Amino acid sequence: MVYRPLTHFSSLFSPPRLAVCLLCGDMASHSGLCAPCAAELPCLHSACMRCALPLAAGANVCARCLQQPPFFATASAAWHYAFPIGQLVQRFKYRNDLAAGHSLAQLAAEHLSPGIEQPDLLVPIPLHWRRYWSRGYNQAQLIATEFGRRWRIPVDARLLRKLAGGDTQQQLKRAQRLRNLRGSFVASRPVDGLHIGLVDDVITTGATLDAAARTLLDTGAVKVSAYTLARTP
Ligand SMILES: [Zn+2]
Ligand SMILES: [Zn+2]
Repeated sequence: MVYRPLTHFSSLFSPPRLAVCLLCGDMASHSGLCAPCAAELPCLHSACMRCALPLAAGANVCARCLQQPPFFATASAAWHYAFPIGQLVQRFKYRNDLAAGHSLAQLAAEHLSPGIEQPDLLVPIPLHWRRYWSRGYNQAQLIATEFGRRWRIPVDARLLRKLAGGDTQQQLKRAQRLRNLRGSFVASRPVDGLHIGLVDDVITTGATLDAAARTLLDTGAVKVSAYTLARTP
C-alpha cells in the first residue's frame, strides 16, 4: 500500500518568512525565534518513557504507567507546558497564529527524534468536524505535516475520525476522560502491521492519545508511538 503525505495544507502552513522573534521582537535567527529566546525554552529532559510525565532524573517510567500502561508504546514531548511554550501553543490553537505553530513544530521536530524505530506513518489526532470547521484548521495536523516533512515519514490526516463529544474535558480526571473517550475514534481503513506515530499538540493526561492508540491497535497497528509539543506536569 502506498501512502502519500497530504499536501493540501502546505500552502496554509508554508514556512513563515519572519525576521522578528515571536516572543521578544528582536531579530529571529532560527525557526521564528531569536537565539536567546530559543535557548530559554523549557526542554523536557527527564520524563516517563511511556507517557512523557516529567520525572526526576534517573527514573524511566512513572508509577501510573507501571500500574496501568497506556496503549501507546512511548510518548515524547519536546517541552514542559510552561512559559513561554504554553503561550505560544495558545496563540497557535486559539488565535490563528499559524506562524507560532510553525515555529513550534519546526523546533519540536529537531528536538524529538523518532530514532531507529521510526513509525511507518504519522497520524494527527483529529478534531470533531464541528470543531474543525469553527477553527478552520486542525493544529495537530499542521504539526504532523511539519514532522513528516522533517522526518520523511508520510502523514495521513484522514486515517482517524473523531466522533461526537469528549472535546472539552480539560477539567476531568484521567479515568473519567478515558471513559468518555472510549470508542470516540474510528479508523477509516485497516493499518495491518504498521507502526503508527500519533501526533498531538499537548499531552495532558494521555487519555486522548490512549483512546486513539487503542483504536489503531484494534485496526491492526503493531505499535503506536506518540509525539507532542509539550507535556503538562
Ligand atoms: Zn526573542
Ligand atoms: Zn508514565
